[in-house]
Amino acid sequence: MKIHVFGSCSGTEPMPGRHHTAFAVETGGFLYWFDAGENCSYTAHLMGLDLLKVRAVFISHTHMDHIGGLGNLLWNIRKLTHVYHRRPEYDIELFIPNMSSWDGILSVLKNTEGNFRCDFSINAHGVGDGRIYRDELVSVEACHNLHLGNSPPWLSFSYRITGEGKSIVYSGDIRNSADLDTLLAEGCDVLLTETGHHTPDAMPKHIREHGYKVGKLMYIHSGRDILEDEEKAARLIRSAWDGDFVICRDGVSYGV
Ligand SMILES: [Zn+2]
Repeated sequence: MKIHVFGSCSGTEPMPGRHHTAFAVETGGFLYWFDAGENCSYTAHLMGLDLLKVRAVFISHTHMDHIGGLGNLLWNIRKLTHVYHRRPEYDIELFIPNMSSWDGILSVLKNTEGNFRCDFSINAHGVGDGRIYRDELVSVEACHNLHLGNSPPWLSFSYRITGEGKSIVYSGDIRNSADLDTLLAEGCDVLLTETGHHTPDAMPKHIREHGYKVGKLMYIHSGRDILEDEEKAARLIRSAWDGDFVICRDGVSYGV
């Protein structure tokens, strides 16, 4: 599998060289999209990725730094069906924790050209705990976190993506590291963790304290510690983590 990072920034004001959070997991020639911050489809297209290979989109929660580019992603997919004279091989499955946000985005899309009539369907689903998606290539499990409240209805989720015998955990936004205990208890090959609300050494310390088996740490949704002094942040991470880690950059693809 590959992880293509389109946006690596937390919900800050505009930052040079970084956009709000979005990435896709590629396997079997298809793209599974996670969060859709500003500009994500623009960056993906310029990276040479085929947006008509997007099979499913998973939103962690409906804050602007995670959905600001969702309408444009779907708009670009529709646009490319006309440019390339072909449609996506599969309808697009969209998982979004707050359907009223989807209603708003769809309303905007329907007021663009052609009433947003498409040669494909977008099937929107809510998100709940447990396995929410499975096809012949990947399965995706959702686990609520406490970023948007500590009682139901759960509106913020972390995800585990499994495929090619590997497993990737994506934190989404979390209140604290313990939000991921359920997912990390099983271990993972890669943990994509946010630092918008935490110091960069918080997660590696938590992993070490609990003895979780995490192959590689990837920092996404970077907070000000990383944005203001990446070298200092890297030293802080190294002080708590002797394993592999990377601070993700926009427009870069990483092997899993
Ligand atoms: Zn965020």
